[in-house]
Amino acid sequence: MIPYGRQSVTDDDIESVVSVLRSDFLTQGPVVPKFEDVISAYCGSRFAVAATNATSSLHLAAMALGLGPGDSLWTSAITFVASANCARYCGATVGLVDIDSRTVNLCPSALERKLKRAKEKGCLPKILVPVHMAGHSCDMEAIGELASVYGIRVIEDASHAIGGKFQGEPIGSCRYSDVTVFSFHPVKIITTGEGGVAVTNDESVAQRMDLLRSHGITRDQALMDCESDGPWFYQQVALGHNYRMTDIQAALGISQMQRLDEYVMRRNELASRYHRLLRGLPLEILEVQAGTLSSYHLFVVRLKLGSIKRSHKEVFVGLRQRGIGVNLHYIPIYRQPYYRSLGLNADECPQAEAYYHDAITLPLYPTLTYEDQDYVIEALGDLLE
Ligand SMILES: *Cc1c(COP(=O)(O)O)cnc(C)c1O
Repeated sequence: MIPYGRQSVTDDDIESVVSVLRSDFLTQGPVVPKFEDVISAYCGSRFAVAATNATSSLHLAAMALGLGPGDSLWTSAITFVASANCARYCGATVGLVDIDSRTVNLCPSALERKLKRAKEKGCLPKILVPVHMAGHSCDMEAIGELASVYGIRVIEDASHAIGGKFQGEPIGSCRYSDVTVFSFHPVKIITTGEGGVAVTNDESVAQRMDLLRSHGITRDQALMDCESDGPWFYQQVALGHNYRMTDIQAALGISQMQRLDEYVMRRNELASRYHRLLRGLPLEILEVQAGTLSSYHLFVVRLKLGSIKRSHKEVFVGLRQRGIGVNLHYIPIYRQPYYRSLGLNADECPQAEAYYHDAITLPLYPTLTYEDQDYVIEALGDLLE
């Protein structure tokens, strides 16, 4: 089976992990802050806070921005459930914004319309979570402007997008957002096994995320409500979680970061080869907005169902039967029974609904060979005849 994505782990990566295993620290020790420094230096953000995975990073970011019961958080209708779940962990409600059909990112004009209506009704969201789908940056300038007009905080879900750029700046610079979150799950651009990092330029948000990832416990006198009782002393000043990354994971991350640019280049090269060789087939390829560099986490095509004999499902199953691990990213959030039961539906999301009926994710990862890629293209060509 040719999977849709897969990690690359080198001997150097393994060496880095083994050296941590031989050291005194296995949980959060000296390597986690080093990894955080590597990430913030790469992105050009002031602070980075590592966590067990991007799901917990999203939760930490939402908590640090003060999300709670009575608030709402909006995200894209097409994303992984974790982008929405962070709101529910905080007791807040979820609203969904439709996508732009060409990029499959949250559509700024749909967002503007929805914000206008919400303002009239007095129910503006506290936080917006735009998702850089497939590694293609959202229009962060347009989103950032709307967020400042309506007084909304922004968490970029950049789980797909480390190594990408918007207006020449790395995703994670947080120029148009409060926090940006990366995932290091093995299918993503680089991996730490499980792992996530939240970057920000706001010192108080960074400190809050740091506190909340470790039970809400502090040894910092400035955060305590009394003088320390002695060298053993600490105080729990908030209800936090145990969301700490381990040094084992961080060591893998530091080692993987050295190859990030190389991986993004290779993914772009394979993507442009797909573009070239799929030309003429009855399908559309997601657009990358001008002035951005995609990290190309995913290569998504949309079938022109009016021009082919087979159905979406038949093409999908046909590819799987030929040993091609295609996938569908993602089932719209409002189609999940959990969110349906909370009253979400497709009404405001016609573009997301259309996408669900014709999208397929093709294999794309740095070690994908031209031969395997040709096999995928040929199989797709056969099925679309
Ligand atoms: C993978 C992913 C997440 C969650 O990442 P984990 O590190 O697995 O928790 C969140 N949002 C999006 C868009 C993702 O693709």
